[in-house]
Amino acid sequence: MNIHEYQAKALFETFGVPVPKGVAAKAASEFDAALAQLPEGPTMVKSQIHAGGRGKGTFTDGFKGGVKFCKTKADAKEIAGRMLNNTLITLQTGPAGRKVQTVYFTVASDIKKEYYLAILLDRGTSRPVIVASTEGGVEIEKVAHETPEKIFKVFVDPAYGLADFQVRQLIAGLGFTGAEAKGAAKLIRNLYTMFWETDASMVEINPLITTPTGEALALDAKVSFDSNALYRHPEITALRDLNEEDPKEIEASKYNLSYIALDGNIACLVNGAGLAMSTMDIIKHFGGSPANFLDVGGGATKEQVVAAFKIILGDANVKGIFVNIFGGIMDCNVIATGIIEAVREVGLKLPLVVRLEGNNVTAGKATLAGSGLPIVSGDTMADAARKIVQLVA
Ligand code: GDP
Ligand code: MG
Repeated sequence: MNIHEYQAKALFETFGVPVPKGVAAKAASEFDAALAQLPEGPTMVKSQIHAGGRGKGTFTDGFKGGVKFCKTKADAKEIAGRMLNNTLITLQTGPAGRKVQTVYFTVASDIKKEYYLAILLDRGTSRPVIVASTEGGVEIEKVAHETPEKIFKVFVDPAYGLADFQVRQLIAGLGFTGAEAKGAAKLIRNLYTMFWETDASMVEINPLITTPTGEALALDAKVSFDSNALYRHPEITALRDLNEEDPKEIEASKYNLSYIALDGNIACLVNGAGLAMSTMDIIKHFGGSPANFLDVGGGATKEQVVAAFKIILGDANVKGIFVNIFGGIMDCNVIATGIIEAVREVGLKLPLVVRLEGNNVTAGKATLAGSGLPIVSGDTMADAARKIVQLVA
């Protein structure tokens, strides 16, 4: 789960990671009250969307920059008016962009130097890794590609936690000395504590800055959490912004369906993630294009199948449905009954190909055939995939 910059910075503050003072606003009518909480003077206006690259982004009406420096609060109010409810396109949003539904005002900081600092999970070593670079501000991917020696990593033993010598390595690597080193060391320790205690999968500060007065500050904040651990953090779950998520994926999560929208036209309804992957592959193999990944899990119920059909039909690109079920623990006849009820309930008009295999498959196929519904049966995965590709062609 991702959160907005303004939410991430509020969390930073509770863990003692210094950030510039800021206030968020969700409506133009809130701008004055928000700005009243900040001192007069240079102010940043920052579009809040779940995507990076905002500074270099462009709005669909041609307005440039989703992060803007303003000399006065009056300017900031005007710029915020241009951003709010406008759609911002960045390198990370895709061509459709994202509608800005919150703006964040912060006191503008004087920058002495920009750095990069992130903590994420390294799958190779199964440890948290701290990634740091003196080349902050710009796209870190570019630094990694062109000057990889300017990025360094410190792997943390999860049982021991972040050791003092590792903090010193980071401080030395980033070239901090004196008061800056002290502030930065505290920031790094506190950031690690936050990463660990909130079950974050990533915290990224780009840029981390030093100011001319020797402070170390997080100017930007990107945080994601491990969804499997959210049950331990109701206060973090409450930060979820459904406006930033695909409505179909939200609906799917209510029924414990793993659904990811794709851009093809053949919807898939499958039990088991591995089978879902191979179903998408075989559709591609026969020249079709999957509209989604949808795993109803090991024991698909009728309610789940109905919910899945409704979600699938909410995608206007879908021209046909391929149900591919392996009855391991599940009885194929139960599944067949569920499919028939689901088809009747949603009044399905699109071509539907069903491939059943496994436990009690003969009865399942007979139930489908006897339903009087135009359900096409596939004997094998290949046979069924070929049929649905032909039907939508
Ligand atoms: P991003 O473009 O989505 O990564 O958004 P950022 O929050 O990183 O802002 C983009 C850029 O704006 C940063 O890399 C900084 O160079 C600049 N910026 C952000 N906040 C400030 C600030 O308080 N003062 C100054 N001078 N520049 C800032
Ligand atoms: Mg940034």
